[in-house]
Amino acid sequence: MTKNIAIIRGDGIGPEIMEQALAVLDAISEKYAISFNYMDAPMGGEAIDRFGDPLPEESLKTCLSSDSVLMSAIGGPKWDEVPKEKRPERGLLRLRAGMELYSNLRPAKIFPQLRDASPLKPSIVDKGIDLIIVRELIGGAYFGEHKTEMINGQEYASDIMGYSRNEIERIAHVAFKTAILRNKKVCSVDKANVLDSSKLWRRVLNEVSVQYPDVELSHMYVDNCAMQLVRDPSQFDVIVTENLFGDILSDEASQICGSIGMIGSCSLGSGTRGLYEPIHGSAPDIAGKNLANPLAMILSAAMMLRMSFDMEVQAEAIEKAVEAVLDEGLRTGDTMSEGTRLLGCHEIGKAVCEKILSA
Ligand code: NAD
Repeated sequence: MTKNIAIIRGDGIGPEIMEQALAVLDAISEKYAISFNYMDAPMGGEAIDRFGDPLPEESLKTCLSSDSVLMSAIGGPKWDEVPKEKRPERGLLRLRAGMELYSNLRPAKIFPQLRDASPLKPSIVDKGIDLIIVRELIGGAYFGEHKTEMINGQEYASDIMGYSRNEIERIAHVAFKTAILRNKKVCSVDKANVLDSSKLWRRVLNEVSVQYPDVELSHMYVDNCAMQLVRDPSQFDVIVTENLFGDILSDEASQICGSIGMIGSCSLGSGTRGLYEPIHGSAPDIAGKNLANPLAMILSAAMMLRMSFDMEVQAEAIEKAVEAVLDEGLRTGDTMSEGTRLLGCHEIGKAVCEKILSA
């Protein structure tokens, strides 16, 4: 059985961390006699430089013909001045829309070994952090109309945040189905005291919840949620929210788990093909220096095996290897604490491969 994986190597630290994720997949391939076929799909800054387009047609076709897409991160200061429609992020937004990936699942679970890397007090961390953010991915302000115009002699800019009932319903179902497999609690996050889109969001969540009587639904305003995530993250199981709120809250949730370099994510539509990527960006400040933490990228590959390929054993093998590396106190700079040993991106990737092959 061969799985065809579209590979977006990306910009900044992207190629370095992708190299480690592919080495890990090669180790899985060797250990379990599975064949992976990697198909390059240039996107972002690299694609702008080579083809003048952040998402060339050929790359979109490659992604649409693959069994799943594995991506690192794109963008960087080099492309900050290119016109808005040609910016690297436009490529990613077009890819998400082109693949109709409307749900983004971002787990935030602290590895016990990283307790001291969390900025939260040990008394808070020790209550447990194990939540998942279900973020709507192709609606809201990122996909509404963006406009900059002159009104009354001065510049005025606006971005429309809109949601249809259908868009809310389908992400609500993802959240409830995710909760059924976990602790059966959904917290829907909105700003229903101010925004009409949030009022509809809340109404639809209440309606859909009737179909999931075993799941407890609560509602929270986004500003309160930002505060509760650092006050007591153990209260959350599944958080479901719209695109912009989810983007912000998931960065916060990742940092309380020790580092943005530890959290992978998965974006899905109605089928099994997904887009798997770490939640961090291309970290231009540390690119090319062998300093990046490759574990979020590696854990994204594990999510791909589990969620798109139904390879639970192999996904667990990667996660256990990551834990074993952390158990040995091996770290990149972002997760260092007293008594641990600093290694580079390449060396951490190699250590994960060795653990997989020797298990
Ligand atoms: P970032 O996530 O790239 O970096 C934020 C901070 O976290 C930096 O200090 C960086 O060094 C650190 N960091 C991030 N990933 C790390 C890792 N794996 N190991 C160790 N440290 C890590 O966010 P930013 O600086 O706001 O954005 C940089 C570029 O990335 C921008 O061009 C932005 O548009 C792009 N970006 C891309 C994506 C994506 O591809 N999905 C997401 C966010 C940002």
